[in-house]
Amino acid sequence: MAIILSGKELSEKLTQEQKQRVVELAREGIHPGLAVVLVGEDSASQIYVRNKGKACETIGIHSETIRLDGNCTQQELEDTINRLNQDDKISGILVQLPLPRHLDEEKALACVLPEKDVDGFHLINAGKLFTGQEGVIACTPKGVLYMLKHAGIDLKGKEAVIIGRSNIVGKPAAMLLLQEHCTVTICHSRTKNLAEHTRRADILVAAIGRANFVTADMVKPGAVVIDVGINRVDGKVVGDVDYEAVEKVAGYITPVPGGVGKMTISMLMENTLEAACAQAR
Ligand code: NDP
Repeated sequence: MAIILSGKELSEKLTQEQKQRVVELAREGIHPGLAVVLVGEDSASQIYVRNKGKACETIGIHSETIRLDGNCTQQELEDTINRLNQDDKISGILVQLPLPRHLDEEKALACVLPEKDVDGFHLINAGKLFTGQEGVIACTPKGVLYMLKHAGIDLKGKEAVIIGRSNIVGKPAAMLLLQEHCTVTICHSRTKNLAEHTRRADILVAAIGRANFVTADMVKPGAVVIDVGINRVDGKVVGDVDYEAVEKVAGYITPVPGGVGKMTISMLMENTLEAACAQAR
């Protein structure tokens, strides 16, 4: 049976440390603040935004949610972001995605000052990750790496296979694992003989968005299986990995819920604290 990598436990521990850091930063006159811009009424986004606000409250970070009408113009959205860029109370800005179709996501993300881009989605931060420079790292892949390191998993020279090539999970996760000296393969919907790749993986990251997609026969015995997926099936949240079958084969596995998702929020808090410190310097 696989060892469970609990994002829940790890994030609770991080929350305690972050609370303490907020107190210490306040003594130095540094007061981190996070602004979340939410456009429209998407129900999943509303839940995510609420959870981010709650996390800030628990840790003691100032937080603001700016709600814009679903019909707002690109200019209104960009004016809001520009106002937050100038606001000294705000160290981090997050534009909740997806945006309504009529808005240009890339242009909106480009408006966020790179030093306030706590999601790590700005081209400058993506480019820094690509070239190995220090910058803001996207929260989900950062959380994945944090879990692997915290569990003491040796990454050097390991075969890492990532299923998914999105800009927010797959690609940055690949870059991070490459920096850790893994040999990285990125798979996607056009990959031929997917299972042949996944069966070679010492580290298998599933970021697909399809419930129970990764089955036990796709996993090398003893592999580390990281399930990023969040899928709703009959009102239940499940990952991209067939957990019950795969936990019998894998060496380590992350559960859903209680795995990577928890770490994503923790890393958002981490990025906000780091942004506040960098801006104070
Ligand atoms: P995207 O839809 O942007 O990307 C999904 C990727 O999976 C694509 O690269 C796609 O390939 C690939 N894919 C789809 N079908 C197949 C297939 N049959 N075989 C191989 N590859 C396939 O999703 P995200 O990266 O944004 O998110 C992935 C999952 O992670 C989702 O469930 C999302 O909800 C979850 N998520 C969880 C987070 C957390 O905090 N835990 C944070 C962010 C996302 P192609 O490029 O060819 O289309």
